[in-house]
Amino acid sequence: MTTATTLEREDTCLYCGGDGYYQLLLGGSETCESCGGTGKQNAG
Ligand SMILES: [Zn+2]
Repeated sequence: MTTATTLEREDTCLYCGGDGYYQLLLGGSETCESCGGTGKQNAG
């Protein structure tokens, strides 16, 4: 396999970038539902 992987951590949530929350444009933040605020990908 010659797939170029740029991500070092596969367990990091791709939606929030590992922060566990979204940065809202209007200000403030909202908990990432994808990882539940853990900042890590949900395995299964
Ligand atoms: Zn997340």
